Formats: sequence, C-alpha cells, structure tokens
Amino acid sequence: MQTKAFAAQSATTPLAATTIDRRAPGPKDVAIDILFCGVCHSDLHTARSEWPGTKYPCVPGHEIVGKITAVGTGVTKFKPGQLVGVGCMVDSCRTCASCQEGLEQYCDGPVGFTGTYNGPLMAPENTHGGYSAAITVDEHFVLAINHAEKDLAAVAPLLCAGITTWSPLKHWGAGPGKKVGIVGIGGLGHMGVKLSHALGAHTVAFTTSPDKVADGKALGADEVVVSKDDAQMASHANSFDLIINTVAAPHNLDAFTSLLKRDGTMVLVGAPSSPHPSPAVFNLVFKRRGIAGSLIGGIPETQEMLDFCAKHGITSDVEVIKMQDIETAYARMLKSDVKYRFSIDMASLKNS
Ligand code: NAP
Ligand code: ZN
Ligand code: ZN
Repeated sequence: MQTKAFAAQSATTPLAATTIDRRAPGPKDVAIDILFCGVCHSDLHTARSEWPGTKYPCVPGHEIVGKITAVGTGVTKFKPGQLVGVGCMVDSCRTCASCQEGLEQYCDGPVGFTGTYNGPLMAPENTHGGYSAAITVDEHFVLAINHAEKDLAAVAPLLCAGITTWSPLKHWGAGPGKKVGIVGIGGLGHMGVKLSHALGAHTVAFTTSPDKVADGKALGADEVVVSKDDAQMASHANSFDLIINTVAAPHNLDAFTSLLKRDGTMVLVGAPSSPHPSPAVFNLVFKRRGIAGSLIGGIPETQEMLDFCAKHGITSDVEVIKMQDIETAYARMLKSDVKYRFSIDMASLKNS
C-alpha cells in the first residue's frame, strides 16, 4: 500500500515528503491510520546519523497513535475503529528469556528487537516509523489506548517519553518515602517529573534553563534545581534514592552522583552521540553508589503505564505541529526549546 511519509535521504538533507510501501495486514497484523506522532530526540539523533547505523531513506517516529482500519484474521486483541498506539518496537524474537518476561526491548535474539524505524540493526531491512500516514504492526506490539480521543496528540509521547521514564522509576522503586531526581526538563524529563510525582515520590527536577523553574513545579516537581547553581546543587548532597538522567548531551556526571545517598542509583536514559566525561570512581565507591542504564520499556509495562496515565488523567504537554515544520522543531529541540514535546498532526501530511 503506497503511503505518504516524511523521510531524510541522508544525514545532511532536510526531511521531505516521500512515499513508502506498507504491507497489507497478515493474519496477526493490525493496520493503523496514524493520527499523531510525537517527536523524540532519538528521531533527530537517527535522522542526522549521530548514532552509528542509520539506513536511508530514514522515516523516524516512534510515538504513534491512531485508529485501526483493518485487522488480520488471527487478531484477537483488537477491532477496527479502536484507538491504539505503537512505540519504539514492532517485533522481537518472542522466544528468548527477555521476550518471555515481557522485556522485548532487551531481546537476546540474533538481531535484538526490531525498531519501529531503522531496524533491525544487523539486517538489511529498514523499517519506517510514524512520520507517515499509516502503519501495519503485529498485534503483539500494538497498545490499547483508553484516553479520550480528544487527548490523542498529548497521549502520543507516552509511547516513548512516558515508558522510558516509567520503566526505571518502577524498576528502582520510586514511590512514597523515596526522593527522586529527574535531570533535564525536555520530552523525557517532563514525563519523568509527572510520573514520579504521580507514583508518590518526592520529586526534584534539575534544569539548565532557569526559565523552566515555574513549569517544573507545575508539572509536579516538589523542588526545581538550576543545575548550574553550585549552592543549590550542594544543598541536595547525599540525599537521593534515584536520579533519572535524560540529558541528550555529554556532561559532568559527578555533579549528580554526589547527590545520591548511600546505595543510590543514577539511571542514564539520555543517549548522547559522544561519551560523557569518565565519572570519578571515588564518588561511587565511598557510598556504594551506582550508575545504570535503561532502555525504553517492554510491551506489558507500556500497557501498564498507559492504563495508569488514563486512570490518573496524565498526558504529555505538547505543542502540535505540522509535518512540514519538522526541521524547525528539530532546530528548537537542539536549543532545549521544547515545551515539552512536539506532536505532529498527521492530517497535515495526508492533506498535502
Ligand atoms: P529533549 O526533549 O531534547 O530533552 C533533553 C533535555 O536535556 C533538554 O530539554 C534540556 O533540559 C537538557 N539538556 C540539553 N542539552 C543539555 C546540556 N548540554 N547540558 C545539560 N542539559 C541539557 O530530548 P528527549 O526527547 O527528552 O531525549 C533525551 C535523550 O534521551 C536523547 O539522547 C534521546 O535519544 C534519549 N532517549 C533514550 C531512550 C532510552 O530508551 N534510553 C528513549 C528515548 C530517548 P533543560 O533545559 O531542563 O536543562
Ligand atoms: Zn524515543
Ligand atoms: Zn527475544
């Protein structure tokens, strides 16, 4: 099925209109009319080849929401007309220990999980993501959406920004009695603040942008710290159980590990294209502090997060844009000028 899309043809050419082929639904497939797609910093890293392995043409987008237009004969979970989402994965081996545990993002199969775009990494196939009018996905990787249809633009970012912060918050036990830091108030960070607050943790947001302090509190942070202010940083020394670091650029990690209490963990989810300066070992060994990483989230926990958000009225704070304005959105993202996620209205692509 010929489908309208927006693609980068190389690392240095702006994204532009193109046409891609979407498969007709097989027995286990769900065909989705895409209504909105969030803009993740990973889209930009990939389109510009900032990470290794981008294949072109590259159609980014892994925060997809839309309506089912058709289902295969073997589909049991979904019906046409239903509102659904697709996140960062569209397939995995389904048989390894990680897949069996519902942690498909850590698939141990020969090519790992199949990314919604630019995947699988080691095979010639190049999947195309949500900057497109429609997508066909195996029902295992389709999520049910129980928010109201009017909220869809703001639900889209839950499919990556939401789950990528939810998964480590849950894994490391964020909740009442815990002090949780969220570093960077961007797409991931603003969802981290909302979710940590909703889980009942004392939530502190760290920002390099003094103009985001009031917003950080409105998002649910109990405190907002300007991370360039040494005195503000020092007042939080040795106090955090968990810090989720969403920053998309290399920076001094020691400034944050020194805020962890004994046995505290800083989880890196931001994935800069060049390394952070090496962290100070003494800062870790003297208080048994840890630095960990976390990748998106599995399908069962993504559904759990979506249902939690629907129940608690949580969505992303979005600025809705036209597909044609994606390059402006990327330029603003690079200046940390996103409040707090761009969401593309796919009508702009379909009507072009
Ligand atoms: P984003 O919207 O651009 O937010 C990043 C935020 O980091 C900025 O808004 C800014 O917040 C802060 N920041 C930016 N440059 C900084 C610098 N030089 N020093 C300190 N802080 C800086 O990006 P995003 O979509 O949230 O993605 C963030 C990162 O996570 C990206 O690298 C992305 O690829 C990665 N990611 C990882 C996963 C995963 O599974 N691990 C999933 C999705 C995305 P302030 O203005 O508040 O300082
Ligand atoms: Zn993402
Ligand atoms: Zn697997």
